[in-house]
Amino acid sequence: DTTATVITANPADGTTLATYPAMGAAEVEAAVARGAEAARSWGGLPVTERVALLARLAVHLRADVERYAALVTAEMGKPLAQARGEVEKSAVTADYYAANAEAIQAARPVEIDSPAGVSAFVSPEPLGLVLAVMPWNFPVWQVMRFAIPTLAAGNGVLLKHSPNVTGTALAIADAFEQAGFPQHLVTALVLAEPEVPDTVARLIADDRVAAVTLTGSNRAGEMVGAAAGRASKRSVLELGGSDAFVVLSDADVPAAAAAAVGARFTNSGQSCVCAKRFVVEAPVAQEFIELFLAGVRDLTVGDPTDPGTAVGPLARADLRDALQRQVDESVAAGATLAAGGRSVPGPGSFYEPTVLLDTGPGMPAFDEETFGPVAAIAVAADEGDAVRLANATAYGLGLSVWSRSTERALGVARRITSGAAFVNAVVASDPRVPFGGTKRSGYGRELAQAGILEFTNQRTYWVQ
Ligand code: NAP
Repeated sequence: DTTATVITANPADGTTLATYPAMGAAEVEAAVARGAEAARSWGGLPVTERVALLARLAVHLRADVERYAALVTAEMGKPLAQARGEVEKSAVTADYYAANAEAIQAARPVEIDSPAGVSAFVSPEPLGLVLAVMPWNFPVWQVMRFAIPTLAAGNGVLLKHSPNVTGTALAIADAFEQAGFPQHLVTALVLAEPEVPDTVARLIADDRVAAVTLTGSNRAGEMVGAAAGRASKRSVLELGGSDAFVVLSDADVPAAAAAAVGARFTNSGQSCVCAKRFVVEAPVAQEFIELFLAGVRDLTVGDPTDPGTAVGPLARADLRDALQRQVDESVAAGATLAAGGRSVPGPGSFYEPTVLLDTGPGMPAFDEETFGPVAAIAVAADEGDAVRLANATAYGLGLSVWSRSTERALGVARRITSGAAFVNAVVASDPRVPFGGTKRSGYGRELAQAGILEFTNQRTYWVQ
């Protein structure tokens, strides 16, 4: 359908931003054919040539940070300073791989004693064109943290982004070209909404697409993972989280409470690794709750372009409705509403920073992922109870444990399942360490060495 369009809107005021023509089947076919061809040439270049362009990408992103940040904030509503932050983090990651990608991809010799005279080595080699299905919440960073190492490894990228950030998707593809990457190596597909599941499934089955990565919900992840399985293709799934922020009885409570507010309400609460459930040992519960509530009351909700704003709108009105249901059902199941709990009247999809006390298993705010400014607090009787509550989730992405004893914190962390454990620190991705989930939070790893190796063929050479 050549008349189909994708329309973007500003969630802070509901106004329309832009209308994009959706790609028809022939344009998608051309993107795949050209992308696969570009990836083939790119993968044949020496690593040094590929890596040199990453440094140029970093320079380009920093030079144009204001334009990208303004676009992100207009399309999905995050406070402008945070939008700048994700562009800068992308530049830092491009620099990281510019410095490290060559060493990560070096062939690794293997010592073979017998039979005599064998030299063996393992060489990470590119797979080809990789499909990336991406979400709107960090519309630049989510794409870049996958694309930068994947391109460094010699692959091409076909990007299917969330429709509400179509302008950002096109700007990202353009950023690679402006930095000097070959044409068609990174293509943003603009797809009309009803055609998304079928088109993505068809692309995953296509022989010219070598692998797929998805960052998004479990619903989308199950579909993409199943399609990849049917096609016997590599997949990475970065899915939801309902991470615990565990405050033990010997924690520095004021420091923990201050960090907790940031951990929950950054990006207006719309991050997979936002702390969502706060599990606090009884002896420090009252102090933590008072400080946390005071911090939440200080959060300014409003226009995301205003430098004084801490919490912007949710990215779409339907996300706010879903959050309201989770809050209402949790209260009906026995949670106590200590702050917020309602939409902010007026235009834009704003939601009050919300704190629920007395939460636990059986309540949506505890059992499900809450993707917005809602904190669920649970008091644990003792350390064992804190471990039990932290583990009482289908998810396992990033854990944060607070204690003045590193040994105790690490001991507790080892008993809780997650892809990462942060002690006396807020969970965050960092290009120097791998990022990814356990349980329903998905599988595969991004960033660090893993970010390059996930989408390579670890090829064995055995030379007699
Ligand atoms: P979503 O609805 O799953 O959308 C993510 C992407 O998947 C979009 O591009 C979407 O496109 C696509 N998609 C949805 N259904 C699909 C299907 N059946 N077939 C193919 N593609 C499909 O997720 P969201 O609500 O935008 O994002 C929030 C979720 O992402 C949360 O659960 C969050 O925790 C998770 N997330 C995880 C991480 C992580 O690293 N683990 C990071 C950020 C976010 P359409 O919108 O066009 O359908």
